[in-house]
Order: sequence, then structure tokens, then C-alpha cells
Amino acid sequence: MRILVTGGAGFLGSHLIDRLMEQGHEVICLDNFFTGTKRNILKWIGNPYFELIRHDITEPIRLEADQIYHLACPASPVHYQYNPVKTIKTNVLGTMNMLGLAKRIKARFFLASTSEVYGDPDVHPQTEDYRGNVNCIGVRSCYDEGKRVAETLAFDYHRQNRVDIRVVRIFNTYGPRMLENDGRVVSNFIVQALRGIPLTVYGDGSQTRSFCYVSDLVEGFIRLMNSDQTGPINIGNPGEYTILELAQKIQNMINPDAEIQFKPLPEDDPKQRQPDITRAKTYLNWEPTIPLDQGLELTVKDFRERIYNS
Ligand code: NAD
Ligand code: UDP
Repeated sequence: MRILVTGGAGFLGSHLIDRLMEQGHEVICLDNFFTGTKRNILKWIGNPYFELIRHDITEPIRLEADQIYHLACPASPVHYQYNPVKTIKTNVLGTMNMLGLAKRIKARFFLASTSEVYGDPDVHPQTEDYRGNVNCIGVRSCYDEGKRVAETLAFDYHRQNRVDIRVVRIFNTYGPRMLENDGRVVSNFIVQALRGIPLTVYGDGSQTRSFCYVSDLVEGFIRLMNSDQTGPINIGNPGEYTILELAQKIQNMINPDAEIQFKPLPEDDPKQRQPDITRAKTYLNWEPTIPLDQGLELTVKDFRERIYNS
């Protein structure tokens, strides 16, 4: 198949492209390189089955493909809050452009949505039918309301224009290739411990997150795309940890003498998050296989190589 991956030079997109190329597909990677880098897809450049296009999805584009994985959007709060209006444009205009393309070329369309659509959840763990608790005027809204509209667009194109959609809600995912300045918690703690500077825990560290290793996530993506389910389906690892526990784990793994420093909690930071993955288990026969300790070891190895070789 010919498969278009928007945001393909980013963290998740580049791991997805590795799997699709290894499966023998033809892949078109579309990216504006805001948070993605050519380094992530370097090994495919020059391969006749791979094509890289620098393009901003807020502008329309004409291409041919059988499937579209739509991932383009900065995912880290630091990056999506850098230019919030642009983040909304990417989620709304960008998703509309990609859905319009899917409609025209009759491609199956996969939307990378997020657990952020649940906001600061008062249902725990989060099931797909929970409608969320989102602040529509806060600093995270450009992203979480943006993704909520992206989901609405996907379902309206499905109902109105019969676009064949798949919607995944991704929970916090980590792994090799996250940027050193990504700003998300796993990469921050690893980089800080490796550099011997204090690990920055926001608030008292009692807020929780559930961390999924990237290869598990990509497996879930491919199963959903090739299933007959439209979703939304949660993909994430239900293993739930406080942020302080995560800091201590990484501290013990890399540098037991590293200091932990408490910093103010960002506005609207969700207090808890854990996926209910019953749907993924039932409909996709999917569940995560890599426990946090093993995934962290693999991630630390990658950061160690990058940091010590730079
Ligand atoms: P990332 O920031 O590493 O990748 C995003 C990619 O999209 C980058 O390559 C960036 O350059 C590109 N991009 C951004 N705006 C663009 C635009 N206007 N036009 C073209 N390209 C653009 O993030 P990621 O972690 O790989 O996340 C990928 C997708 O998964 C995002 O849609 C994100 O919202 C979603 N997601 C990720 C997580 C996670 O934990 N990683 C969790 C929930 C949802
Ligand atoms: N966090 C932290 N220190 C950091 C970066 C993040 O304590 O250096 C916290 C952040 O406040 C949040 C959690 O870790 O409670 C996860 O943050 P991240 O930005 O990775 O993802 P999200 O908040 O979008 O789930």
C-alpha cells in the first residue's frame, strides 16, 4: 500500500514509519519540521519506497495514498504552548485539509487523538465514553480543545462524506528519539539525571500518569488502522505512577546522587490519568508488553548515546 504519515519526522511518526517500511509499504512522510527532525528518518532517505515532503498541513496538498496516518501536531506542552494559535490551526485547519484529502482520494484516515480530551478527569481510569473535564479557555486548550474538534471533524466527515476513519486516543508515550529539549516528563528526567542536574518535579509530584513504550503504541496503531473499528479507542499502558515515583525510578537507574527539585505545578495540570483499555483488548486483541522499567532502560540507552556523543 501507499501510506501517508503526517508528522512522520516526529517521535511517534518516525517509529511508525520504521514499522511500515519494514512491512514493505511505500511511505510518504509529510512534515514541517517544527518538532520533528530529518535525523529521525535519515535511514529511509534515498530508499525508492520512501518520500519526504516538507509541507505545513495548514495548507492543502494533493497526493495519492491508500491510508493516511494523521499525526502532525506538537505533542509536548512546552512546544504546543509556544504558539497556541498555530497549534489550533494545525489541529483544526490541518485536520480538515487531511480529511478533505482522504475524502477526495478515498483513503482510510487515522487520527492521532489524545487522552487530553478527558482534561482533568473525574472518572478514573478513563473509558472512551467519558466525555471529559476540559477547561476551554486555559493554556492547554489550544491542544486539548483542538484535538476534540479534530475528533468532531473526523466523525462528521465520516457521517457526512463516508470517510473511513479510525480514531485513537493516545496516553503518555515515551521511548528513544524523544528530543532532548522535548519538555515532557520522561525525557526531562532522563536528560537531567544524565547531565547531573536536579530532576524538576512540578508540584508535589503526587499527580499520576501511565506510561506506554513506543513499540507497544505503534503495534496498537497498526492493529486499529487495519481493523473494522472506527474508535475512539484508548491505547496506553495502564501501569500508573506518581510523577515523584517516576523521578525516583530514573534517579535510581541513572544517578542515585541526583537531586530532586520541586517547581510550581503548571496551570490545569491533570491530577490523574490511566487508560481503561478494555476496548483495545476486546476489539484489537492488543495490550502493552513492555513494562516501565524495561522501556526506561531502552530509552536511557538512546539518550546516553546521543548526549555523550554530542
Ligand atoms: P512530535 O512533536 O514529536 O511530532 C509531531 C510532528 O508533527 C513533528 O514532526 C512536527 O514537526 C510535525 N508537525 C507539527 N505541526 C505541523 C504542521 N502544521 N504541519 C506539518 N507537520 C507538523 O510529537 P509525537 O509525540 O510524535 O506525537 C505525534 C502525535 O501523537 C501528535 O498528534 C500528538 O498530539 C499525538 N499524541 C502523542 C502523545 C505522546 O505521548 N507522544 C500522547 C497523545 C497524543
Ligand atoms: N512534569 C514534571 N517535571 C517535568 C516535566 C513534567 O514534574 O520536568 C510533570 C507535569 O507537570 C505533569 C506530568 O509530569 O504532571 C506529565 O507531563 P508531560 O508534559 O510529560 O505530559 P502531560 O502533562 O501532557 O501528560
